[in-house]
Amino acid sequence: MSLNPVRPWRNIYRRKSRQIMVGNVPVGGDAPISVQTMTNTDSSDVRATLDQVIRAAEVGADIVRVSTPDESSTRALREICRESPVPIVADIHFHYKRAIEAAEAGAACLRINPGNIGDEKRVAEVVRAAKDHGCSIRIGVNAGSLERHLLEKYGEPCPEAMVESAMDHIRILEDHDFREYKISVKASDVFLAAAAYQGIAEATDAPIHLGITEAGGLTSGTVKSAIGLGNLLWMGIGDTLRVSLSADPVEEVKVGFEILKSLGLRTRGVQIISCPSCARQGFDVIATVAELEERLEHIKTPISLSIIGCVVNGPGEALMTDIGFTGGGAGSGMVYMAGKQDHKQSNADMIDHIVELVEKKSAEIEAEKAAAE
Ligand code: SF4
Repeated sequence: MSLNPVRPWRNIYRRKSRQIMVGNVPVGGDAPISVQTMTNTDSSDVRATLDQVIRAAEVGADIVRVSTPDESSTRALREICRESPVPIVADIHFHYKRAIEAAEAGAACLRINPGNIGDEKRVAEVVRAAKDHGCSIRIGVNAGSLERHLLEKYGEPCPEAMVESAMDHIRILEDHDFREYKISVKASDVFLAAAAYQGIAEATDAPIHLGITEAGGLTSGTVKSAIGLGNLLWMGIGDTLRVSLSADPVEEVKVGFEILKSLGLRTRGVQIISCPSCARQGFDVIATVAELEERLEHIKTPISLSIIGCVVNGPGEALMTDIGFTGGGAGSGMVYMAGKQDHKQSNADMIDHIVELVEKKSAEIEAEKAAAE
């Protein structure tokens, strides 16, 4: 990640982790922090699951996890993996045979805790399948399902217990000479999750998968995830993340990207800076931003756009964005390009006009990028 010499207060120093691959997506090291989500369809329904994977990929998901609790879902996984535009992680709890089937079906990664799948022979079989099929593994420790002996030792789920659980699972994989793993220590409590993640970040150089589990609905879960994941990312911890919401997986991806965008860790698509609006607004800011968000969803090129109700903050925000619109009065506003006043635009067809400007700018940037490559 490039550091900002002019504004050092913006710099985030990422923890140094080793890199693994989840299919063709690098996780850890200097790879961009990847965004994941998980399907909530019946995994044995290939069409419904694939549709959801594709929709998530369209809004930017780098990796998608699919739960594979039974044989019919690992059977369906073969076609899902073959058709998916992004690597698929198979989510497995306890059943080692599902892990082997998922690896054979083309999963790029297995989410499985080696300490939970039974005896040494079973662990060896799963590790062999992962090695044979080029799968990585995510060890997923969860405060809600800690091993009984750790709960007895520590009295309740706590950061030390979560780190110890993670290290126990890591040791099992390392004993089998397997290092293509990443690790998560999730909790629904942000304090517990943040402390556990800080602990594991110090204890290992494995790439870290961030998540606040069972975070809640769209609004409450977004806030909780932004606080929990935002703090950790700000400290430089985290190589991939999933925002867990009781909502459409597409929303999880959008929220994940917004958290990364807010910290300048990743950019994708149009970042709209808009004011909350008040009596001074020269046009309906809220309705305009809602429509622009929808109509610009297809843009993948990072572009900043300021939509500001009046001249109190409009020119200042426009200075820092690629394209800006500031409400003025008498049914029109000012369009800014690269921070400079460019032309007047009537409010009546301003949305069409801005969409056109953004699409044009995106095409220019993409053409420049292609020429440079
Ligand atoms: S920029 Fe203008 S319209 Fe927007 S909130 Fe501020 S004063 Fe109100």
